[in-house]
Amino acid sequence: MILQTNYHNMQVDHILRAYNQFLTKELTNRFVKHATVVKLLELLPAEFRKTEVGLSHQRRSIQLIQWGHGPIDIFLWSQMHGDEATGTMALFDLFNFLQCPEFKAVAMELEQACTLHVLPMINPDGAEMFSRRNAQKIDINRDYLQTVTPEGRLLKSIREQIKPAFGFNLHDQSTLWSVKKTGKPATLSFLAPAYNEVLDINETRRDAMLVIADIFEQLNPLLPQQIGLFDDEYEQRAFGDNFQAAGMSTILIEAGGLHGDEDKQQIRKYYFLSIFSGLMSIIRKSYLKNTLDVYQAIPKNNKEIFHLLLNNLVYEGAQISMGLCYEEEPIDYGQAVSQCYIVQDIGDLRHLGAYRVIEGNGMILHGEIDVYKPANFQLSHDGEIIISFKNGISQSKL
Ligand SMILES: [Zn+2]
Repeated sequence: MILQTNYHNMQVDHILRAYNQFLTKELTNRFVKHATVVKLLELLPAEFRKTEVGLSHQRRSIQLIQWGHGPIDIFLWSQMHGDEATGTMALFDLFNFLQCPEFKAVAMELEQACTLHVLPMINPDGAEMFSRRNAQKIDINRDYLQTVTPEGRLLKSIREQIKPAFGFNLHDQSTLWSVKKTGKPATLSFLAPAYNEVLDINETRRDAMLVIADIFEQLNPLLPQQIGLFDDEYEQRAFGDNFQAAGMSTILIEAGGLHGDEDKQQIRKYYFLSIFSGLMSIIRKSYLKNTLDVYQAIPKNNKEIFHLLLNNLVYEGAQISMGLCYEEEPIDYGQAVSQCYIVQDIGDLRHLGAYRVIEGNGMILHGEIDVYKPANFQLSHDGEIIISFKNGISQSKL
């Protein structure tokens, strides 16, 4: 068993180094649109069996891709939230990986052991606007019970028809989640969603937890202290919780933040490796040899990180730190975002983490500070303005 784990570890490292061989080069940022998805799906060879299974509210096609001929049915769907494209990028990298000559042996093993059922970009209207919600302004992931969204209805019915043993629910989370007590961003988070209010563990949920334990052991050496466990509070309207209740072992993967990777081009690689490790765990049944302790020992997510931390400033005669977080708004027809900085906290914040830390060295802060309000101040040194914010918008290059 030890030998196999080592072998597997080497494989994950090797795959990461070889990533350029199967990276989907057409996907270069997190503003992926439906037209690109359609074009990429057209290029897939016949072993990827494509069916248009429905239309979004604004009548964009949603296609189911089936691959493999094995007995274990595995369902993967991405981008229920239109502004969460990392899973979609990783799925297209997976499609390329499965065709890559270098990894032919592992692709054949997967092909014989499982059948993949994949819905990439289930919310294409949201993706078009770079919005979490669909075109009806509804959060699809709170629509399981009523299913008034065509996208939610479709997702629900595909699972009911196929009844897969395992499911991968692919999301992005706020970049403000950190891993407890590390001050580092939660670059990846995992969860086996609860199927009831009291968070019981039955066989279905246990299997999902054990697969996550396997994924964690593979990925943790690559991302030390940057993998967290998502909050498992039961949400009766969410798909993951209901799919778990319906008997599909459901694995939630969330892409968070990584220093210098706003477009998620590094994170997508770790994300792909998580999916790959999960698939290998399932088909080799290695999860059955893992333990719940490994899952439960994954550190929890919390919010102890800022986008920007300014230390050692002087404000009204006192020396302070200030933590700021930005809120993103889509601009340019969902092709980019603007960032509005909000003052999140002020005081002694030196123990907290940040994507960006600026040492103020006693710079004087001028302006009106309101916590939870857009930043409106200047920092000056020897009479020269170094950093300036107007209504949350940075006036200087950060
Ligand atoms: Zn989401």
